[in-house]
Amino acid sequence: MSEEAPRPAPARHRILVVDDERQTVSAVKHLLRRKYKVLGATRAQEALELLDQEPVSVVLCDQRMPEMTGDAFFAEARRRHPNTIRILITAYADIQALVRSINNGHIFGYVAKPWSPEELEHMVARAVEHWDVSELNRRMTRELADANQLLQKANDELKAFTHVVAHDLKEPLRTIAAYTQFMRGDLEPPLQPEGLHYLDGIQRCAEHLFRLIDDLMRFTEIDHIERALEQAELRYVVSKALEMLEGAVRDTGAEVRVAETLPVVEGDAGRLVLLFQNLISNGLKFNQSAPPVIEVGAGPSEGDTVEVFVRDNGIGIHHDYQQQIFELFERLHARTEYPGTGAGLAIVRRIVELHGGEVAVESTPGNGSTFRLTLRRAGAAR
Ligand code: ADP
Repeated sequence: MSEEAPRPAPARHRILVVDDERQTVSAVKHLLRRKYKVLGATRAQEALELLDQEPVSVVLCDQRMPEMTGDAFFAEARRRHPNTIRILITAYADIQALVRSINNGHIFGYVAKPWSPEELEHMVARAVEHWDVSELNRRMTRELADANQLLQKANDELKAFTHVVAHDLKEPLRTIAAYTQFMRGDLEPPLQPEGLHYLDGIQRCAEHLFRLIDDLMRFTEIDHIERALEQAELRYVVSKALEMLEGAVRDTGAEVRVAETLPVVEGDAGRLVLLFQNLISNGLKFNQSAPPVIEVGAGPSEGDTVEVFVRDNGIGIHHDYQQQIFELFERLHARTEYPGTGAGLAIVRRIVELHGGEVAVESTPGNGSTFRLTLRRAGAAR
């Protein structure tokens, strides 16, 4: 069924009464006139025209009319104005008409003839209430869709902006790198050790800026990739992450213990590999124990949610900074102490959030850290 275009909400609900007997229309109009603006029609065609012209909340129609029966009228009224609430007025014996009105006209209710004023009034009041709730629902859905659209637009603009900025920043950086190269090799007389030392500083800064730009791009691109939710076996995901970190594990002499069983989750395996790669590499990097020990395991699961952790015996994180480290480019150490840009955990958090989960850290300085994340079990009902 196509969505009916939103119409401005009427100040007073409009009720339309359709009956070929003029006295009945007048009686209903009289009965409801105090609470509603009541319109009347003695022919189905006239009623359809009225519905096209004015926003009507509730329409009551008699089944027996000469040109078009009530149920046929409702089927057409529903096609044109699905939001208008429909009430059939019919005799008890007219069960077939009632069935057709329910099936084709999706009527809200019916009033049996001969009707009592209280019964009719009560039915209309309930229908109006129903219209109000449905209208509120429709308005909220529209507002949500509008807000989503705005958000999507802002997001797209931000991504486009980041791209442009990144490209524009890289251009002068390349030139700086090229000039430092010339200065090293082509100057006559050649640079003295002090000059070369300054040059090293410039080059280091340029390289760091390159890495920052790349990480910024990587961060914004996380949501860019089409999300492919599949069954991701975390044992496999972690083994892939470890393959990427083979050099770092070897260089640090670390011991990596991966639990025998890890859950299968609903997720994008590629992004999850990146997530574990970031967490494990941090565990290796911010670590002074000999040997560094990294453990990957599953915590208690609850319903459709599973918990996974990455634990290390590294330097730990002070309680005051345990939130801040998940922000983009937030670091707790000088680059000379531990290299990095501060994008890793922001990427981890973004990936977990894209999977509908959460990530948090438990840690005390000097006693290692445990990063816990929640993910959805594969095949969990939505
Ligand atoms: P980077 O590793 O590039 O510094 P991250 O975003 O991955 O950036 O981490 C942010 C900061 O959080 C790090 O600079 C470090 O201070 C702290 N941190 C992250 N992981 C650990 C860990 N396993 N142990 C101790 N500190 C950590």
